[in-house]
Amino acid sequence: MVRTLEGVRTSDGAGVALTRIIGSPELEMLDPFLLLDEFRSDQPGDYIAGFPDHPHRGFETVTYLLAGRMRHEDNQGHAGVIEAGGIQWMTAGRGIVHSEMPEQEDGLLWGFQLWVNLPADEKWVAPAYQEFPAAAIPTEERDGGAVVRVIAGKTVEGTAGPVTGVSTHPLYLDVTLAAGDVLAEPLPLSHNAFLYVFEGAVNVITGPEGGDAQIEAGSLAVLGSGEGVRVVGGGARNRFLLVAGKQLNEPVARAGPFVMNTRQEVMDAFQDFREGRF
Ligand code: FE
Repeated sequence: MVRTLEGVRTSDGAGVALTRIIGSPELEMLDPFLLLDEFRSDQPGDYIAGFPDHPHRGFETVTYLLAGRMRHEDNQGHAGVIEAGGIQWMTAGRGIVHSEMPEQEDGLLWGFQLWVNLPADEKWVAPAYQEFPAAAIPTEERDGGAVVRVIAGKTVEGTAGPVTGVSTHPLYLDVTLAAGDVLAEPLPLSHNAFLYVFEGAVNVITGPEGGDAQIEAGSLAVLGSGEGVRVVGGGARNRFLLVAGKQLNEPVARAGPFVMNTRQEVMDAFQDFREGRF
């Protein structure tokens, strides 16, 4: 394990309260991951303003909802509602303008948004979506007691997630463990990986020299590249994301909703957006 950290409380969009776990001063990025936000509130004032029209260029936004409903709509005629347990993997590519608004006036809204970088030669692809409701996400029940929802990638036991064709070859798992349950998962050498606990607490054990650490809900563990993990449930019910992606090792120039390779490309993105070329 490389390090553990907590997110920072902030707000984004038109005033949505959230915790920024990656993309903060403490952890600017974890190649290819540019940002990880958790939004979780049953107070409408924390989320009702949503994320009205805004652009993206040069990367992918991945929205995974645990509770509530979120409506999205873009400037190219695509719209829909993400529901609890569902995933939206949006490739912004050369650019879209979209909104992401709560489809509810009260109750709990809880989920994550992850930003995944695109390699330089894919930053100009046409925007595309992979969207799957809860029922389309396979659940693996392991001998060690772990229950694993497989959103992207393939687990050591062979279950493959519905999200495919992403060139950073992501693994995106939502894992539930009871007390003492164990999850063991190898991770590719080419990948960076993290584990984010959002219920209970887990003990994370990495390679023979990696040691172990107790990770509480609201904390992220950055795993060393190529370290397999062994995770043991600490509380009565424990749940975490285990996410890995291939390192791009390319220059990153970012500002707001644009992530490119050079400063000039980011300035071009602002100008293209201002002049209506998205
Ligand atoms: Fe967005």
